[in-house]
Amino acid sequence: MISEKMKPLMANNSAIRTMFEEGDQMRAKYGRENVFDFSLGNPDAPTPPEVKQAIKEIVEEEPDLILHGYMSNAGFEDVRETIARHINKTQGTNFSKKNILMTVGAASGLNVALKTILNPGEEVVIFTPYFLEYNWYVNNYDGVVVQAPTDKKTFQPDLKSFEKLVGDKTRVVLINSPHNPTGVVYSEETIKGIANILKKKQKELNRAIFIIADEPYRELAYDGVEVPYITKYYENTIVAYSYSKSLSLPGERIGYLVIPDELEESELVFDTASNANRILGCVNAPSLQQKVIAKCVDAKVDLDYYDRNRKALYEGLKDCGFECIMPQGAFYLFVKSPVEDEAEFCKTAKKYNILMVPGSAFAGPGYVRLAYCVSYETIQNSLPGFKKLAQEYGL
Ligand code: PLP
Repeated sequence: MISEKMKPLMANNSAIRTMFEEGDQMRAKYGRENVFDFSLGNPDAPTPPEVKQAIKEIVEEEPDLILHGYMSNAGFEDVRETIARHINKTQGTNFSKKNILMTVGAASGLNVALKTILNPGEEVVIFTPYFLEYNWYVNNYDGVVVQAPTDKKTFQPDLKSFEKLVGDKTRVVLINSPHNPTGVVYSEETIKGIANILKKKQKELNRAIFIIADEPYRELAYDGVEVPYITKYYENTIVAYSYSKSLSLPGERIGYLVIPDELEESELVFDTASNANRILGCVNAPSLQQKVIAKCVDAKVDLDYYDRNRKALYEGLKDCGFECIMPQGAFYLFVKSPVEDEAEFCKTAKKYNILMVPGSAFAGPGYVRLAYCVSYETIQNSLPGFKKLAQEYGL
């Protein structure tokens, strides 16, 4: 009954669903507080109070037809202008409303961007490991994912290999920083390196190659680390931003694309992307949440909430003898599995009620991902289990 294109995607989905169900069964059996579920990237830092306040005010104040009516596919003009000014203030850019297209979160922003610029058979280069849903999005437009390696110690892109992978079929390089699943932030040196290679390739091949910068974790960067704003380094860049993590609003589905003037045929790309928003069935981003963002453009979740977890889990795992790098951003730790088959490691961890995701789910075999967007108590209470787990592997 289902389409040939969906069949393999459903097979993958059932593995994730099994994990959800397993977590629920464990919680029912052992009690919620005794299950240490690090599998989900569901942001649990409280939504800032000004967001809740804004929702109440907007519902009271805005006329129904404006608040609940159809609008331009790109979103409310005043909201887009407010966001443009905010980016200019924080990043030193020069955007206006004509560069900002409101989307249904980053996932939809990425789909809109790919629908707008990707032809069937063209390649999208992605650095491993990566958020595997990108495969689905590229597949939606019959593109081809090309996996590019990263340095085994730092997870920064291996630029020599990357250069060799960019060819006459390359249309997009998809970059995600701060990064899911490693927590790495791509340095300015890395961004400049990627930009220089692409500038050279565009000239050689006489065709546009785009960077799509997937940035839902931009605000979650620790210790004052800089997250370079990629439009400043490479003209053909589209940024996909989301408030899912920065305001803990993943269910509200709100984000935007930045399509800068410097991008080739920027106006045409923007108009096409607005139409893609409609064609993909989103039509426009949720109206109430657009208005909320305009009121709360400076709001952020409490970064210390995640930072405390980051330090506690990293230190705790290192003390147990596990190998991992200190994440600079997002809310994930990517831990080296003590055995080659990380699925076996995940299975053993379940004995201690610890749930984590095998790295293969991110094209990163040999590692496991731990999402530390959980309560601080969960982390503290999980550490004795991790200690026993480490001992089982002779660490
Ligand atoms: N990109 C990455 C790297 C993510 O981790 C996620 C969600 O976890 C998304 C995109 C999708 O985010 P959104 O909720 O804004 O659609």
